[in-house]
Amino acid sequence: MRTPFVVGNWKLNKTISDALALVTELKNQLAAIKGVAVGVAPPFTAIAAVAKRLEGSPIATCAQDCYWEANGAWTGEVSAPLLADAGATWAIVGHSERRQYFGDTNEGVGKKARAAIAAGLGAIVCVGESLAERDGGKTLEVVDAQLAGALGAGLDAGKLVIAYEPVWAIGTGRTATPAQAQEVHAHIRKRLGEKLGAAAAAGIRIQYGGSVKPQNAEALMAEPDIDGALVGGASLEAGDFVAIVKAARGPSALAHAKGLG
Ligand code: PEP
Repeated sequence: MRTPFVVGNWKLNKTISDALALVTELKNQLAAIKGVAVGVAPPFTAIAAVAKRLEGSPIATCAQDCYWEANGAWTGEVSAPLLADAGATWAIVGHSERRQYFGDTNEGVGKKARAAIAAGLGAIVCVGESLAERDGGKTLEVVDAQLAGALGAGLDAGKLVIAYEPVWAIGTGRTATPAQAQEVHAHIRKRLGEKLGAAAAAGIRIQYGGSVKPQNAEALMAEPDIDGALVGGASLEAGDFVAIVKAARGPSALAHAKGLG
């Protein structure tokens, strides 16, 4: 049984005081939540303050990226051990905005995932195709190449989460249909099984990301291989994010409990 995992990716938003206000509200509203794991990914500058505010809460503090070297002459980078020191317990790696605007490669994403896990963090590895790739029938090929880069030796499957985020659905208001997402999620799980073994693959959570909103969350997460969400825009405001977290705990958790997931 996989516990769904919903993470809010705040991107380049929120001062420390804005971040603390939001996370305090989430902490209160989600204090009694069961059957779903929750995380928030503030900008680097707010990680330590958010992690401290979340002490005693089940909400995890996540980083939006990490560098693969632990320390040294890498101006501007933040390493996984430093993130752990600041209180983060997860790092998102390979987000499409990193791949698109900052040159992250499949190989680099794999190095970042392994560095995160070596530092004791969980790694959320993002994969997903562009609109041109989908229209060209290349979705599964692109996802395979991204997974191959990420799933090298030395990866602890227990610390791994995959986020399937079709680039054409991120921040566009256009969402993959539950069937479109499920098709890719099932394919990802098959590939995970080939690389890491069936038992490991059955336990790895695969989040969907791309314009998840309270209105579409429940239908997406009712699919058997969709185990939560990576949420951008709708995570910036407590009401919408809490509604998505509650949707994740619903039919999907029920399906998994029945052994269908
Ligand atoms: C994201 O940034 O990972 C994301 C899915 O953004 P949005 O929910 O805004 O599409």
